[in-house]
Amino acid sequence: MIKKLNRNECKIKYNFKIFSFNFVKIIKYKTGKMLKLIITLKIVLIFNILLNSQSSEPVDPKSTEDWSSAPRLINGLKSANDVPSDAVILLNKDKMNWLKKDGSASEWDFDNGILTVKPGAGDIISKYAFEDCHLHLEWRSPILIKGEGQGRGNSGIFLQSRYEIQILDCFNNETYYNGQAASVYKQHPPLFNACSKTGEWNTYDIIYKAPVFDMVGNKIASARATVIHNGIVVQNNTEIFGTTEYIGYPKNIFHGGAPLILQDHGDLVSFRNIWVRRL
Ligand code: MG
Repeated sequence: MIKKLNRNECKIKYNFKIFSFNFVKIIKYKTGKMLKLIITLKIVLIFNILLNSQSSEPVDPKSTEDWSSAPRLINGLKSANDVPSDAVILLNKDKMNWLKKDGSASEWDFDNGILTVKPGAGDIISKYAFEDCHLHLEWRSPILIKGEGQGRGNSGIFLQSRYEIQILDCFNNETYYNGQAASVYKQHPPLFNACSKTGEWNTYDIIYKAPVFDMVGNKIASARATVIHNGIVVQNNTEIFGTTEYIGYPKNIFHGGAPLILQDHGDLVSFRNIWVRRL
């Protein structure tokens, strides 16, 4: 049954319809306004970000000065024979800080500051352990030429007891390139052959960065070495892939600081002026 509305009820219904219609219109209008407002705000925000990123560039030269930690004062080298004031001396006229691997006294010949391999006596280790360092050493191949390739004036310096920088008489003596003097043995040939004549002194300056291992012993950064041979850069921040292996590939097993090793390869290689600066 359809209920018939009286005049008042009709008026109320009509007014309600008008109100609803206007309400929807207002909402639509407001929503449109809101959208416009949001878009405007976003544009302002992006503009501000761009403006701030440009204005974050410092304008005061002092703001980019670092005064947090002063580099330690070191006496520089005034001549080839000088030694830095903070260097650990491993070999000079008065000191011979090398031992056999078992910790007993070295059997290598030590005379007037010159240390010479005693073939068959075995490798020797430095008395102290090192990690990141600057190593200076001088070496000389025997004047009497004997053998060829890897058999002529062969020795080596092992960083952290594991990573060999080759020592070899490479003056008129060819061998595989990643096995010649100043190579990271079996990994990287030197950039140049800077070898002195057979029987003359060579200098090595090695700037070494030790490998980094995580808490569970995985290597997360390789060791690196820069080698300067007789004043010539022959390894330029070279990555050391892992341990030196005569046969097989480099290995990466967790380790910490370790002594240097000088190799007894059966040749009468001599050394003098060995010092290390910890970095
Ligand atoms: Mg060697």
